[in-house]
Amino acid sequence: MVRVTTGCMWSGKSAALLAVVRYYLSSPQPIRVEAYVPSTAGVAVIRSRDGSPSLPAKPVEDKDFHDLSFREDHLKYLVVVSECQFLGPGLASFTARHMRSHDVCLLLEGLSYDSDHQPFGPLLEITSWGCPTTTLYACCAVCRGRATHTYHRGPKGAQVQVGDSGYEPRCEPCWLMGRQWA
Ligand SMILES: [Zn+2]
Repeated sequence: MVRVTTGCMWSGKSAALLAVVRYYLSSPQPIRVEAYVPSTAGVAVIRSRDGSPSLPAKPVEDKDFHDLSFREDHLKYLVVVSECQFLGPGLASFTARHMRSHDVCLLLEGLSYDSDHQPFGPLLEITSWGCPTTTLYACCAVCRGRATHTYHRGPKGAQVQVGDSGYEPRCEPCWLMGRQWA
């Protein structure tokens, strides 16, 4: 099965992902955890801002998912992929291959939209397949309302940027207002 956790920046996606991992690890059934982060992210760990215990993760590139398979009998796998916005068709086809697997549970986390509110990475396509999806919201940095968008305070340009600096969560009206005056 596949579960997706998405939302704008600062919406608590990593904390939610790590909580689900802890849930699976606490079940009596033995499960093997394989965690991945895009090498673009420049880290080998999944961590959240709330201080939850972090999870070591292997840096990968999208093409690595083409050859990735889990065939061991009688062993359940929990495959965790964070920051999915930096991955693409390789992860999407890997996900399609495991949608109905009883031996692999795939947990995907990442942004669905960039700071221009354009589709970002493979998660929008994957969620359109109907897998269970949790969309989280942050607190708008301007009005404290429900933030659905990621706003970029810096100069316009590069879509894909790593790290949090220069970004803030905003509700749609405050995001639109900021872009109008930028
Ligand atoms: Zn707002």
